[in-house]
Amino acid sequence: MTRHEFLKMIEVHHRWVQDLAEPIPFSSAELYLDARVADLITENEWNTSKIIRNFMPYVQQMITTMPVPSFSNPDARYWKFDSKGRYSVKGGYQKAIGFYDNPKNQSRNMLEGWWKFIWSISVPPKVRIFWWRLSKDLIPTASNLKMHHIPTAETCHYCGFGKESTIHALFTCHQSREVWKQTTYWSWIKKITNAPTLEICLWLKWTLTKTDFENLAVYTWAFWKARQTAYHGKISAISGMDIHWVLGWLKDYKKAQRSLHVTTQPEPQNSALYWTPPIENHWKLNVDACFNLNSQSFGIAGIVRGSNGEAILAFGRQINQPLSVLGAELLAIKYGILELKEHNLTSVTIETDSLLSKQAVFGEEDYLDYEGIWISEIKEMMKSVAVDNLVHVRRSANVIANALASFSSSSPTPFSWVNGEFPT
Ligand SMILES: [Zn+2]
Repeated sequence: MTRHEFLKMIEVHHRWVQDLAEPIPFSSAELYLDARVADLITENEWNTSKIIRNFMPYVQQMITTMPVPSFSNPDARYWKFDSKGRYSVKGGYQKAIGFYDNPKNQSRNMLEGWWKFIWSISVPPKVRIFWWRLSKDLIPTASNLKMHHIPTAETCHYCGFGKESTIHALFTCHQSREVWKQTTYWSWIKKITNAPTLEICLWLKWTLTKTDFENLAVYTWAFWKARQTAYHGKISAISGMDIHWVLGWLKDYKKAQRSLHVTTQPEPQNSALYWTPPIENHWKLNVDACFNLNSQSFGIAGIVRGSNGEAILAFGRQINQPLSVLGAELLAIKYGILELKEHNLTSVTIETDSLLSKQAVFGEEDYLDYEGIWISEIKEMMKSVAVDNLVHVRRSANVIANALASFSSSSPTPFSWVNGEFPT
């Protein structure tokens, strides 16, 4: 079965397993593209041996815990591209133009759901980034390194049994299992087998509550760090490690996030409704960031204008990295200042419509990870580049920067435009 057929297959079986938003991964060729749910039922019971032969362990569990459907209704036609099975003109059109024949679009729902989910979990950004990399098999396990043509033995350094894949390293290596046994997640972890990484991710998302997933996500991150440390000989064995501190760390993070929301104020009503030019020989830099659900990317952009409203500099780029909204707004400010620096522009007021990023730059609060790093970089650069001020404006006074950011969010090519008359 080719990858394309495989995707077709799982689309055909889309959504018959309750609550599973993603297509169902399939692991054997015994069932064909026209297979029906009824093929898995014998005498009003799930045919467990057939299910075991054909589905990944976690899907087996999902299927067999469902009540056997009653067959008083005959099979009905179901428009598989709509969540409620209804045919729509738009869906029909997309089908007609071959939209869903592209394997990329077929697997999109699955990836989009996962990506949005990782986006939404309340964990420190570095844990989110770790999980994003994990699900794309981008963490440096022996197998992943080998896949990227880095000469290394694929065998697990810790147990010596089997390849060190992402799932092996984190969940199925018996050294790892010794650590998981100390946690409340052991009952889930012990069910994991060496399936493709993304499938395990989707299963964890499906089977755990969001809070449990967040806890597990942080444990996994801490565990990976410990495994790396152990590999470099700093501690003798991972099994002896204590990872219980991670929940306290996560709790502190969530508390800090909550207090952040409380201090966020509504848009000030005294600020201007529309953009106004700066005074003569001064400049205004308007920056913005926005997230594009289709491309799953941020766009950041900025524009510098003078006292006659003339645009002299504009830039924008797509950011393909999981960031917080604050992180993206800060990055827009940071890139904006770098552009000012590159073009020797001084006497500039920066305008942002993100009150949170203004507060982050001027406030006393400590931020973690990249947010914290960018805040201190911005503070430093504002001094060296002689930025007059960083002010918050209403969205309606920031429409051009917003439009440029929106454009950049769907355009992989960065742009940097400079007016010819401007000294560079
Ligand atoms: Zn191992």
